[in-house]
Amino acid sequence: MIDFGFGVSPSSRINLDSADKEKFNELAIAEPDVLKCMACGSCSASCTAAAFEDTSLRRAILSLQNGLGDDASKLLSHCMLCGKCTMVCPRGINTRHLILSIQKIYSL
Ligand code: SF4
Ligand code: SF4
Repeated sequence: MIDFGFGVSPSSRINLDSADKEKFNELAIAEPDVLKCMACGSCSASCTAAAFEDTSLRRAILSLQNGLGDDASKLLSHCMLCGKCTMVCPRGINTRHLILSIQKIYSL
């Protein structure tokens, strides 16, 4: 094999076919609005807790879509349910209610 002095890094992408989506599907039934999230980040940018701790609803939803419930748990562990993100979500998602459903379904 020819040595070009560099190599191809393995993909860091998550294999969605092997991700456990069972709980996310349960969440989508209880809270269909979660499917409307376009990962714009408005919620995270306005988040009260994010100013002090690593808190991000946007990243938490992406983690849940990828079957990474533990990651989402960490990203929402400092949420104060203030509802500020609900006011800025351009998709009109009741994010506060969504977070409560996430906490219930994922037993956070
Ligand atoms: S409800 Fe939680 S995620 Fe939303 S802005 Fe308030 S602290 Fe942040
Ligand atoms: S503001 Fe709404 S659409 Fe944007 S990332 Fe947050 S939940 Fe998703």
